[in-house]
Amino acid sequence: MEPAARPLAPTYQERRWELPPDAVVHHGTVDDAARVLAGRTFTVLTGAGISTDSGIPDYRSPDSPPRNPMTYQQFVGDAGFRRHYWARNHVGWQHVDRTHPNAGHRTLAELEQRGIVRGVITQNVDLLHEDAGSRVVIDLHGRYDRVICLQCGRVISRTHLAERLDALNPGFVESVLDGGTTVADIEVAPDADAVIAKTSHFNPADCEFCGGVLKPEIVYFGENVPRERVDRAFALVESADALLVAGTSLTVMSGLRFVRRAAKNGQPIVIVNRGETRGDPLATVKVDAGATETLVGLATRL
Ligand SMILES: [Zn+2]
Repeated sequence: MEPAARPLAPTYQERRWELPPDAVVHHGTVDDAARVLAGRTFTVLTGAGISTDSGIPDYRSPDSPPRNPMTYQQFVGDAGFRRHYWARNHVGWQHVDRTHPNAGHRTLAELEQRGIVRGVITQNVDLLHEDAGSRVVIDLHGRYDRVICLQCGRVISRTHLAERLDALNPGFVESVLDGGTTVADIEVAPDADAVIAKTSHFNPADCEFCGGVLKPEIVYFGENVPRERVDRAFALVESADALLVAGTSLTVMSGLRFVRRAAKNGQPIVIVNRGETRGDPLATVKVDAGATETLVGLATRL
């Protein structure tokens, strides 16, 4: 049995890791990866690296500036923090809402239609796999377009909340974007966490039914992925012959555990990522390259 989901590491600094010095990594090309996957069905685990070509920055890649992602404890325990968070989110989420799937997402949807891909487990909250036409998608860390009340549990759409926040903060988004900042300038993390200096006058909205605290339906650092969702993801991994990992360094256990399970089961594992990943020693083949270009190349060989 897999142990209960462990909390995600709380800060960027603590999420740093190194492969053991004696780790053996089987580096290969897209041809090598195709040889492993040919004639097999596979489940795909994706991360931020597949969405960078859609304009959503990967804040965990080696080149990214260090930043401290919000923790669940901060969000729940600090009203000032929540105000700041919602102000940034209110601007940033519209950027995510306007992004489009890229060739990598579309390739996985096509491979699903061809009966090769069983489904996608994604660490992204941007819904770009769904937009590309993938039908079996597990949004492991939640989705940006929904908001949940921590008190009564009601889920509302982010669009509906946006209307309420606009009414409570008339002209706020415009003032941010007019102040010399463009949407392209705003640092937008996968959780629509845009950096804006002036947020002290922002009015966040509480649940309109019970007055409880609203939170994006996204799994934050310090929070566990719901057990039922983890179990569905394990089942999806085990429903296929092999596992393909694309565009994630597997820094957090929430993704790494699926690679460990596949390795334990003896399922072939292909990892495609620019830079080292924590699962590299478990890969049958590791392709050190961008997710989008490699997925497209891979699909033509299957
Ligand atoms: Zn409520």
